[in-house]
Amino acid sequence: MILRSLTKHINDQNWFAVAIDFFIVVGGVFIGLQVSNWSNAQQDRRDETAILHALHTELTDTEKLASNIVGKRTLYANILAETTNILFGLAPMRELTQVECTSLVYSNVLYFGRTNLPSLARLQATGRLDIVRDADLNSALAKLLQRQEALDSTAILGAYAHDLGHLYPEIIVISSTLEHSDTREDMEREVAATCNAKSIQQNKGLMADIAANSDVYDAFMRDGLHPWLAQIQDVHRQLDLTLGIKHDVEE
Ligand SMILES: [Zn+2]
Repeated sequence: MILRSLTKHINDQNWFAVAIDFFIVVGGVFIGLQVSNWSNAQQDRRDETAILHALHTELTDTEKLASNIVGKRTLYANILAETTNILFGLAPMRELTQVECTSLVYSNVLYFGRTNLPSLARLQATGRLDIVRDADLNSALAKLLQRQEALDSTAILGAYAHDLGHLYPEIIVISSTLEHSDTREDMEREVAATCNAKSIQQNKGLMADIAANSDVYDAFMRDGLHPWLAQIQDVHRQLDLTLGIKHDVEE
C-alpha cells in the first residue's frame, strides 16, 4: 500500500509526498523498535523482581544450612588444630581426648552441603546477570559466583587428604556409639575414636599425613568456606535492602 503510493508519488515527481511517505516508513519502524525495547525492559523488570524474590528464599535456606555446617566445621577445625599442635610439640604434651582422636578421623572430610543457588545459576547460564540493576547487588552476586568457584576448588583439595582411620586402624581405633541427640528424640549414632599421642608420634607416615590433612583443612576453611559464607551473608544483606525486607532480630 505505502509502496504503491510511494511509487506513484515518485512518478508524479511529488517530492513533498515522497518525503511524507518516507517518514511514515522510517517513523513506523522507529516506533516499532521503541515499543519492542520498552516491552523487553518491562519483561526484564518483572523477571528481576521474580528472580530476586526466588533468590532471597534460596539464600535464606542456604545460609541457615551453611551457618550450621560452618559452625560444626569450625569446631572441628579448632579441635584438629589443637590436636596437631600437641602432636607436633607446638602445645604442651598430654594425652589426646576422644574428641581429639575423632577429629583426626574426620580430618579428610571437607563437606559443606548444598551450595548452589538455582536462580543465580540460571541468570549466569543465560547471561542475564545484567537484569539486576542495583550496582552493589550486581557486583555482590558476581563475587558470590567467584567465591562459589573458590569453595569448589578448595573442596577438591580433599582428594589430597588421607583417610587416617582407614590407613592406621591399629593406632586410631574407631568405634560406633549411640549418644543422646540434642535435636532429635531418639539416640544418635556417632563415630568415636581413641588413640595414643605417643604411638601417633612414633609413626612417621601418620605424622606426615596428619600434617597434610591439617594443611588442607586449614586452606578449605580459610580460602573456601569462610569467605563463601561471608559473601552469602553480604548478598543477603544487599537483597534485603533492594527488596525492602526486614527480618526479626533473632533470625
Ligand atoms: Zn532476607
